[in-house]
Parts: sequence; C-alpha cells; structure tokens
Amino acid sequence: MDDSMRTSLIRPLLVIAALCAVTGLAVAAEKPAQPNIVIILADDMGYGDLACYGHPTIATPNLDHMAAEGMKLTQFYVAASVCTPSRAALLTGRYPIRSGMTQVLIPKSKGGLPATEITLGDALKKAGYATACIGKWHLGSLKEHLPLNHGFDYYFGLPYSNDMSPWAQPTNHTFDGDPPHPLYRNFEVISRGEPDQSQLTRWYTDEALKFIRTQAGKKKPFFLYLAHTFPHVPLAASGQYKGKSRRGLYGDTVEEIDGSCGEVFKTLKELGLDDNTLVMFTSDNGPWIGQKLDGGSPGPFTEGKVSTWEGGFREPAIFRWPGKIPAGVTTRAFATAMDLLPTLVGLAGGEVPGDREIDGVDLAPVLFKNEPGREPLMFYYFNAEVWAVRKGPWKIHLKTVYPAASKKWGDWPVTEHNPPLLFNVDEDPGEKYNVAEAHPEIVAELAKLIEQHKAATKPGVSQK
Ligand code: MG
Repeated sequence: MDDSMRTSLIRPLLVIAALCAVTGLAVAAEKPAQPNIVIILADDMGYGDLACYGHPTIATPNLDHMAAEGMKLTQFYVAASVCTPSRAALLTGRYPIRSGMTQVLIPKSKGGLPATEITLGDALKKAGYATACIGKWHLGSLKEHLPLNHGFDYYFGLPYSNDMSPWAQPTNHTFDGDPPHPLYRNFEVISRGEPDQSQLTRWYTDEALKFIRTQAGKKKPFFLYLAHTFPHVPLAASGQYKGKSRRGLYGDTVEEIDGSCGEVFKTLKELGLDDNTLVMFTSDNGPWIGQKLDGGSPGPFTEGKVSTWEGGFREPAIFRWPGKIPAGVTTRAFATAMDLLPTLVGLAGGEVPGDREIDGVDLAPVLFKNEPGREPLMFYYFNAEVWAVRKGPWKIHLKTVYPAASKKWGDWPVTEHNPPLLFNVDEDPGEKYNVAEAHPEIVAELAKLIEQHKAATKPGVSQK
C-alpha cells in the first residue's frame, strides 16, 4: 500500500477518535484507529467446496453472505499444497524454502518455525495489536515453536493435524505410536486423553468469540488467527451439524465452519466492531482427494493436496471490511497467501520486515480500489524443490505426481517431464491440454525463470 492510501484509510478513523475524545463520547473513543484483523483458515478445503464457489450441495450461507458484502478472489494461491509449509508462508509472507519449513511436521518433529522468522503475530503485536491464535498451529510442537513464542498473546488449539494420534487410526499416514492429541491453552496441555474432535469447531468458535468480546471497548486493536482443524480427516462434526449436510460428513464439517463464521460476524456486529474489522477467509491447501468421500473438491482444477497441479494451490479467498472493501465484487486479480503479511501489516501502520526477502506484495490496490493487480508469478514447490512455475497465463511443469490415485501416503510415482508440460491456465484452468510443442519459446523462458529463482533463493535450515 502506498503511504497516501494508508493515510486515507487510517486518517478518518484518527479524526473520529479525536472528535470523540473532545466531545466525551467515551465508547466511540475507545475504538482503535487501526482496524481489527481476523483471518479464518480452513484445513484441506478445496476451491470447489463453498456454495459461492460453485458447490452444488454444501450450504455455506454465511460465507456466501461474506462474499456478497465483500470481495471474492478467483486466483488466490497458497504457497504449498500441504499444511506446514502453507501455514509458514501465510504467517511470514515468504516461500517456505526460506524458513526451512518445507515439509509436514509430525508429532515427533523437533523442528519448527525458526525464532528468526517474523510472523503476522510478531509484526501486528509490534504495531500495537492484541493477538490470538486459535485452532491448528502445525509450525512446531516443542515449546519454543508454539504460538506464544511467535507473536501471539494467547493460544488455544491442537499443535498439529487431527490425524496424528491413535484415535485417528488407520487414517493416520505418519503414525508412529504418537500420544493422544494434546489440546493446548497457551503453554499448558489441558486435555486428558484424546479430545472429543466432534467438539473442536465448537470449542474454537467459543474461544474466538470470547477473545473478541474481551477485546471490545479496548484501545488496542486485535488480530485473531482462527485456524480450523476441519475438513482435514478424520472428519467429525458436533451434534448440531452432524448428519445435516447433503454432502455427507465432509459437508457437515464445512457447514459447521460456515456456521462458526456466522457467529463471528454476529458477534462483531453486536459489539459495534463490524465496520472496523477486516475479515478474510481461505484454506491452507487443496483437497485430499485420495480420501474419496472424506476429501473435498478442487472445483474446475486438477488434483489437490500434495500435488503441484492447480487443485493443490488454488483456494477460495474472501475479504470483507464494510465501507472499505467494495461489496459484491468478484476479482480475477492474482494474489497469494504470502500477500497477507505486507497487506495487513501495511494496513495496521506497522513495519514490514526490511531485512529479508518478502515474497508477497501489498494487495491494498486490489482490495480497496478493485484494481486488476499484478501479473501472476508463482513458484510451485514440492517439499524443497520447484516443480512448476506460472507467469501470466502460462505454467510449466518439470515434474508431477497424482496423489489422488495413490493408496498410501508418500507412495506416489514422480513423473519427470522433458520437455516440460505447458498449460495456459487462463484458457485451460483444468490443465488438460499440453501446448508445449506449439510454444517452445515460452517453455524455455519459464524454465529459465525457475533456474533464476533457484539461484537467487537461499534455503533456510531444513525443519523436520
Ligand atoms: Mg492442510
């Protein structure tokens, strides 16, 4: 965001605050000048799993309403198609290779997000925000890696995926005699035995509402990172939602998350915070299609979780801030989860780290002026390797996997493509028609881009 735009957004709030202070309007004067920020993240939910993104039988009235009152993106990318690296990128604004967070952490992992990384929690806390992380973390489960050591004042949730315990057998792909899931409040494990996973969305929602209520009326703005456990397998929904969706248990879990979003909006309105709160919704990676009926939908895209096809990286993304973000807009602007850090920290008047590479860019012109945004440029990592790149409408694949067809986690044959595959993902979002033979010069240009990116990108120490 340029300075003039930031000033134009924040100045009216400062003026209102000053006027209220002068006229003694104590309640209004308590409103902070910076907006509150809420990020709601689903886990393994696909591009095609919301009604407003075309799902025919999953009902998501609250997210549909959010899109109607805000902006819906059709070209929003996460930085990895599995949980840990995607979340590292979302919170740091950087490709996961830079922090060394390139693979999924398991309960026995000693690694985690390095202390040197600056998260959205760190940067917003420094800008004066009260910060809370509620839900699934998955950036390291040793104490030094937990949210309270990464910029969050408060934490409630599971430190890793909900399939990484004896309760989840035989779904768990990495099971190694792990203990029941520890449910944390701050640094303390508050569960005895396996938590009732059917209650997780309910508990996360209650914690989120409690945090919002606690912050209401305070001078400090707040940042809430609400990272749901579902629809990651094994699926579970509470009594109010179980058995209700026409899409089966998968749909139940998505509809419960939608209901949770509705409760967040209702609470913001009740507390008079609605017009000073930016809320964004997305998911960490594409659907786990190999789970069959328990996995979600990539919409028009190919494949899902783990893969470097579009279905692994494209996610629904909705931004809402009444009066600031235009209502009812669908934008085809390119954006990524790495843009959140520069965008939100800029909006907060905070400091975007200047001592390191930040791969995201400020989305303010897209969000507030409905500008078309930048030319797409996306590197698709499989663990620590770049397997594909998109520039403009063109995308090449050097290697591919089809995890949906694999019976076992990790058991997916890798196919190398020489020459690379080439797709025009604007004309052919499903990546069905390889046009490499017709455009050798584009293939060569994109292959060179990958080489340049690799040469210019310093990997962090691998965390596992
Ligand atoms: Mg995930």
